[in-house]
Amino acid sequence: MHGGRPGIALFGGTFDPFHNGHLRMAIEVREGLPLPRVHLVPSAQPPHKPRQPVATARHRYAMAEAAVAGVEGLSVLDLELRREGPSYSLLTVREILAANPGVGVLFLVGADAFQEIPAWHRWEELLAACDFLLLPRPGTPPESAFPAGVRIEKEGDGCYSLPGRTYRLPGGRRLLCPDLPVLDISSRSIREKVRRGRSIRGLVPPEVERHIAAHALYRAEEGG
Ligand code: ATP
Repeated sequence: MHGGRPGIALFGGTFDPFHNGHLRMAIEVREGLPLPRVHLVPSAQPPHKPRQPVATARHRYAMAEAAVAGVEGLSVLDLELRREGPSYSLLTVREILAANPGVGVLFLVGADAFQEIPAWHRWEELLAACDFLLLPRPGTPPESAFPAGVRIEKEGDGCYSLPGRTYRLPGGRRLLCPDLPVLDISSRSIREKVRRGRSIRGLVPPEVERHIAAHALYRAEEGG
């Protein structure tokens, strides 16, 4: 989609568990840009996280799916769950591009995660394979997440119909930094609350809260 409208939007994550920060961001971007659809892509084996997920891939997928059932324009893809080995984003993007010739991919990523991108598998190829949209995280304004040594040039103000800024990545792909609300919710904070017996009402969709309770997830101490 060099130059064109965004194509297929992917929002990858561990989703351990999927929470209202993820949900609101997907909705804000879909309605604001606007996009016909945002696909959530739960990672089976996140290669760049310091530790492996707490809940199984099947539980994490089920929670994301239950959370977006009935939410217009949001759906969950299981392609990383069907693949063997580490869930490299480059493989996912390439799989989507191969299945949809002529269509570009827009990859939604939190600013904290983008900051770590030079540690990702074949990251330079990934930056050249699709467009990116940075989601603000507390303490990490989008522009502060630009990895050092990567030439990122400002292209203009605005991100399609959202206020913000657009940049060019090396290789010519776009990097969108829309002005979106910063939501201070993380999966880690939810896991910790569950472990301590605290309520997570309002932080996760009701379906996720029910799934966590029904399967007694996140009650044990975390390793790492
Ligand atoms: P953890 O606390 O376990 O590290 P997380 O809450 O960051 O997890 P992930 O599943 O790792 O959740 O997130 C998937 C993607 O969504 C990442 O790119 C992350 O930066 C982004 N993200 C997570 N929570 C938010 C939020 N509240 N606002 C914006 N982006 C978010």
